[in-house]
Amino acid sequence: MMRFERVAVIGVGLIGGSFALALKKARLCGHVVGIGRSAANLQVAKDRGIIDSVAAQAGDADLVLVATPVAQFPAVLAALAPQLKPAAIVMDAGSTKRDVVAAARAALGAKIAQFVPAHPIAGAERSGAAAASADLFRGKRVVLAPLPENPAASLAAAEVAWTACGARVTRMSAEEHDAVFAAVSHLPHLLAYALVHEFAGRGNSAQLFGYAAGGFRDFTRIASSHPEMWRDICVANREPLLAELDRYGAKLRALRPLLERGDGPALEKLFAEARAARERWLSGEFE
Ligand code: NAD
Repeated sequence: MMRFERVAVIGVGLIGGSFALALKKARLCGHVVGIGRSAANLQVAKDRGIIDSVAAQAGDADLVLVATPVAQFPAVLAALAPQLKPAAIVMDAGSTKRDVVAAARAALGAKIAQFVPAHPIAGAERSGAAAASADLFRGKRVVLAPLPENPAASLAAAEVAWTACGARVTRMSAEEHDAVFAAVSHLPHLLAYALVHEFAGRGNSAQLFGYAAGGFRDFTRIASSHPEMWRDICVANREPLLAELDRYGAKLRALRPLLERGDGPALEKLFAEARAARERWLSGEFE
C-alpha cells in the first residue's frame, strides 16, 4: 500500500488540518509537519495530534499540501520551490484553480510537473485547526485539475491520498472548475454576505435581526465564513463570478414584473420548478 512517510501541511486550518487527520486515521502517513502563520493555531494543531512537529519549511516532505488562503500561494510556493525533493508531490486545496495554476507555474518553474491542483468540495464556515476533523472529506468530492505535465503516477498518488480521506475524486480543467464553482459556490457566498451586510446597515437592523428566523439563518449561514478566504476567492475568480452575478441579476429582473403585476400562477410555476430541481439535487441524482 502507498504511504507518505513525511507529509508537510502549509496552512494547518480547517482543510489542511482535516487532511492530516484523515491521512493519519487511514494510516497512510508517517510524520506530519505543520507550517503556519499563527503560532497559537500551530499549537492547537500539535495539541490535537494533527501535526507531529512545527517547522519553518517543508524541506524533506514526500507530500506537501498547500492549504492557505489562495492569495498566499505565490509567496508560499516561491518559498517551497528551492526545497522541494525531486520525487515530492505538491497538492493544493484552494477553492480556485486558474490563479493557483498560474501561481504554481510562476513559482515552481521546471518543477511544475510535481504540482497537482486539487480542490476538496467539503468545508464549513468554521476555520482553524480547532475546527479540523478526520471525517470532513468523507463522502465528498475532490476535484483534480491535472496539468499536462503531471505524470500519471503523481495523479494516482493524489487520488490515493484523497480516496483514503473518504473522498470521491473527479477531474476537470481549471477553466471549467472556476466557471462551475463561480456558480454553485462563489455566487451564493457573495449573495449571503451582501444580504446580511445590507440589513446590518439599516436603521432598523436590530428589529430585522430580532425577527429573522430559520429561513434567514439557512440562507445566510455561509456569511459566517472566513472573510480573508472569501476575499481571496472572489478576487481570484472575479471574471466568472461577475458573469454569474449578471445572470442572477437578469433572473431577478425577469422575476420583478411577475411580482409587480401580482402574477401568482407565474410565480407559483417558477417556485414549483425550482423546488422540483432542488429535490432532484437533494435526492443525489446528480452525484
Ligand atoms: P483556515 O483559515 O481554516 O486555514 C488557513 C490556515 O492557513 C490558517 O491556519 C492560517 O494561519 C494559515 N496561513 C495563512 N497564510 C499563511 C501563510 N502565508 N503561510 C502559512 N500558513 C498560512 O482556512 P480553510 O478553510 O482551511 O481554507 C484553506 C484553503 O482551502 C483555502 O485556499 C480555501 O480556499 C480552501 N478551501 C476551503 C474550504 C472551506 O469551506 N473552508 C473548502 C474547500 C477549499
